[in-house]
Amino acid sequence: MEKEQNHDNIALFDLDGTLCDYDKAIIADYNLIKSSGDPEYESFSPKIQNSPALKARIKLIRNQPGWWAKLEKYKPGFDILNLARELDFSINILTKGPRSSPNAYTEKVEWIKTNLAEYDVSITISEDKGLVYGKILVDDYPEYIIDWLRNRPRGLVIMPDQAWNKDFKHENVLRYTGKNLEQVKKAMILSRDKKSGEIVKYF
Ligand SMILES: [Mg+2]
Repeated sequence: MEKEQNHDNIALFDLDGTLCDYDKAIIADYNLIKSSGDPEYESFSPKIQNSPALKARIKLIRNQPGWWAKLEKYKPGFDILNLARELDFSINILTKGPRSSPNAYTEKVEWIKTNLAEYDVSITISEDKGLVYGKILVDDYPEYIIDWLRNRPRGLVIMPDQAWNKDFKHENVLRYTGKNLEQVKKAMILSRDKKSGEIVKYF
């Protein structure tokens, strides 16, 4: 029998950079076709963002059939996912469908079916993460975190530590470094048990 979903205690989980290792796969493929004059791959780097040729190359890499479905699991995200399950959160995967890679939509769902079969998750693919309800958001990307907190000013965000979010700080956002799982657990319990409208200091 399917577990009854707890609609109050929803934890939202991002995929790329949170539960799956997008960067590892992009870097490996980029380096295979990199020539000596090309810059090193760096996530969200203007060197790549401002170069139509390099952007086109990234697009070709990501559009290879099966590319998204084969991404490896990212352990920090799974540490938090296991906590969410232990604390009885309903888990909703919240991911953005990249417009330039239509194959990502179906392959992300395939990835979830393969890698999260034992977790009883629901899936939301959204253009705007800020529209989606949850008590907790687990996401690595500051821009989406800010979008979500705009509508959930008392929400809790757990942010897996990544090179591109090093400088981002916010009183609702707890960075997970791989070494502070107990702190993350305490914050998640506070979020789970707080009453609607109650203001809580998470950490
Ligand atoms: Mg992400």
